[in-house]
Amino acid sequence: IKRIGILTSGGDSPGMNAAIRAVTRVGINSGLEVFGIYNGYKGMTEGYIEPLTRDSVSQISNRGGTILGSARLPEFKDIAVREKAIKQLKKRGIEAVVVIGGDGSYRGALSLTEMGINCIGLPGTIDNDITCTDYTIGFYTALQTIVEAVDKLRDTSNSHHRCSIIEVMGNRCGDLALYAGITCGADIVITKDTGFNEADVLDRLRELDTIRKKKHAIVIISEKITDVDEFAKKVSLNTGFSGRATVLGHIQRGGSPCPFDRLIASQMGEKAVDLLMQGIGGQCVCIRENKIVSYPIEKALKMPSDSRKPLTNLFERLI
Ligand code: ATP
Repeated sequence: IKRIGILTSGGDSPGMNAAIRAVTRVGINSGLEVFGIYNGYKGMTEGYIEPLTRDSVSQISNRGGTILGSARLPEFKDIAVREKAIKQLKKRGIEAVVVIGGDGSYRGALSLTEMGINCIGLPGTIDNDITCTDYTIGFYTALQTIVEAVDKLRDTSNSHHRCSIIEVMGNRCGDLALYAGITCGADIVITKDTGFNEADVLDRLRELDTIRKKKHAIVIISEKITDVDEFAKKVSLNTGFSGRATVLGHIQRGGSPCPFDRLIASQMGEKAVDLLMQGIGGQCVCIRENKIVSYPIEKALKMPSDSRKPLTNLFERLI
């Protein structure tokens, strides 16, 4: 192959730029021409595609977000829309594409591969909700943001006998909450895997207050589980703590990527180019037990989430 494209799709994550840089530089150094496709599949369909040079990707590894922009285009499920996108690629001689995004983006990549454009997926999301990989690009940066925020909340909760209830992202994957719970020394972690029994949690908080005589309590809860403001009111009414909810929100998606995210983004970008040069498509790149590997997207999307070792037991042993 001679020409490849790269795009970022779905929610952005810190480290996407390092992946764009890696794909561009490794591609160019391997004799390929590399094109940036702006705003995900939307830009592909509209032909918003421009050549990337060695210099156009300098000084971006340290920046959060994505220089290529991201977008959602639900119509990409429609074959006629994908045909239009493929025309735009063919017009420019682009034969293969690296797609950085989440599982929805992977589905788009698989459909394009089935239509003759080899695509490789890279896991770009803070949520760590792509089962086949131990870590997604952006996860550790988001974790760092959460830890910094929780450390600050702990100081003020401690002074006011509060229970801080902190809602973190994860899109139904509990990893951000669980890893934050372990690294911040939270008292309670609530995720899809732990389930949420309100009465039990209130019991545990009362115990922390009256038996353990704690000055404050930290509860970390995944998004999409309950209304944390309502829950905070119940904590104030039913325990000795004053309940305060904090929804960290999109702050978790920003910031300069941490070294680990930059590193795996670079390694995964390299792997993607190598696969495309071997004529391979329809695969996604993962890090598993410290090795950069790839799996067919079809298989990766069907992997059960318990195929990874969760740290739930460790959290329980630390409290
Ligand atoms: P995040 O984890 O941040 O939500 P994502 O990649 O899962 O990222 P989605 O919005 O689900 O985000 O998907 C991104 C884009 O991928 C969609 O807007 C759409 O253009 C394309 N896409 C999603 N599902 C499919 C599908 N089944 N077939 C073709 N394209 C798809």
